[in-house]
Amino acid sequence: MPELPEVQAHAERLDAMFRGAVLDGFRPLTFTVAKTAVPDPADVVGVACSGVGRRGKLLLVGFAPYCFVVHLMQGGRLVPDEKQSPKPRGGQARWRFADGRALLLTEAGTERKAGVWLRDTNPLIQEPLDHLGPDADVVTVDELSSLLGGTSMRLHGFLRDQHQIAGLGRRLANEVCHQAKLSPFATCSKLDADAVARMHEAIGTCIDESLAYERSRDDMSKSKDRPGAVHHRVGEPCPVCGDAIRSVEYNAYTVAYCPTCQTSGKVLADNTTSKFLK
Ligand SMILES: [Zn+2]
Repeated sequence: MPELPEVQAHAERLDAMFRGAVLDGFRPLTFTVAKTAVPDPADVVGVACSGVGRRGKLLLVGFAPYCFVVHLMQGGRLVPDEKQSPKPRGGQARWRFADGRALLLTEAGTERKAGVWLRDTNPLIQEPLDHLGPDADVVTVDELSSLLGGTSMRLHGFLRDQHQIAGLGRRLANEVCHQAKLSPFATCSKLDADAVARMHEAIGTCIDESLAYERSRDDMSKSKDRPGAVHHRVGEPCPVCGDAIRSVEYNAYTVAYCPTCQTSGKVLADNTTSKFLK
């Protein structure tokens, strides 16, 4: 899933391409993609794009005072639509512009979870943005300290919880824990001030690194190509200490970590050893 750096860089690309373009029509291509019925998208026809931005992992396509909020979820992409074919593969929704161009929301796979909300008043205080925590790239160390102190969640789960802080996912949760030299299974409320400060710095470092990489590209990167020390690196040597990166596997994701850097050398209970021996 694209996380804050990928969505941010993509918003910047779309902003450069479409700001000022006048909307000629918005059309959902599936029954499930449009999450709002009011206002009517027809009301936005003739309005110029006022900019493309981001909140958490969601894209905000502005046509002031209107705003389309686009949640890409796992496999969604919002891309310039060169072909404009009547039934595009994975097509979810299309924005056509008066200059002949178009934007297409596509979603790989069959889950159909991507969604589009249209708002005519401040979208930040309405679903699906209203319950998001502070954006991970701007959260202050004091805010982070207060959020961590208020929950007994494990650190990895906290970092992925958009209600706590917004923008991070499975990959950056792994990378931030490694960068901060903290166990992904540490209890948030038990972290001391030094650990919170390391966590805050690690969030900034990991986002900056990924954002710089993402901005160097013309399109959104694939997960395995993104920079990092532990995510997608299980079995490889830790770039800091040389220990082998280990993992704890769950159905939907993998927690990857370095025992020497993060868990005082302790290898956490997992089911990966048996898998490697097969
Ligand atoms: Zn290490």
